[in-house]
Amino acid sequence: MHPWPKPLGGPHRSVCHFCDTLHVAEPLPEGTAARCVCCGAVLYQNRPASLVRVTAFSTTSLILMVVVHSFPFLVMDAASIRTTLNLSSAAGALIHRGSPILGVVLALLTIVTPLSVAGGMIYVCGPLLFGRTAPGAVHVAKWLNKTEPWNMIEVFLLAVLVSLLKLSKVADVHFGMGFWAFGLLMFCMAAAVAGIDRNELWDRLEVAKS
Ligand SMILES: [Zn+2]
Repeated sequence: MHPWPKPLGGPHRSVCHFCDTLHVAEPLPEGTAARCVCCGAVLYQNRPASLVRVTAFSTTSLILMVVVHSFPFLVMDAASIRTTLNLSSAAGALIHRGSPILGVVLALLTIVTPLSVAGGMIYVCGPLLFGRTAPGAVHVAKWLNKTEPWNMIEVFLLAVLVSLLKLSKVADVHFGMGFWAFGLLMFCMAAAVAGIDRNELWDRLEVAKS
């Protein structure tokens, strides 16, 4: 793996976001962080095997998405009737039966967001493992950066847990395999997004393009 940051045609500089001190950024060994000489804030980090980790966690997220949508999310027993709830069919039912906004939000949180974030991370970081960039990778990385604050699939899980508290009063509720896979998906998505320092990603994209 290449050292990072890799200076391009001269010294590489880094500014502290807290006290504005300008530093000359030296390449870092894996697993270490550079700190500001004045206030001690972290300037940039070289996370261990960052590209491999991001690609692996993103690929796992895509596999988990298949499990989430192929298996029941919840199983409810009430008055001798068993009902199974599948996430994708629930979104479709909501859209077609009078709650289109709720259905679209459900589809966005459980299908569109994980698919586009995990797919985008693989598209950007996968080729970088071999020192290459995919066409338009910089635009995809910028888009991922912009949408990061809106990547809130945890909110969905929280809403489900609150609803379950209410449902448990009228029905016997069990978690299906889809629910546990969704929990794992949440963990993998967070690990993929946090797996690489944003400065490192931009530098690696720049080095691979040159
Ligand atoms: Zn500082």
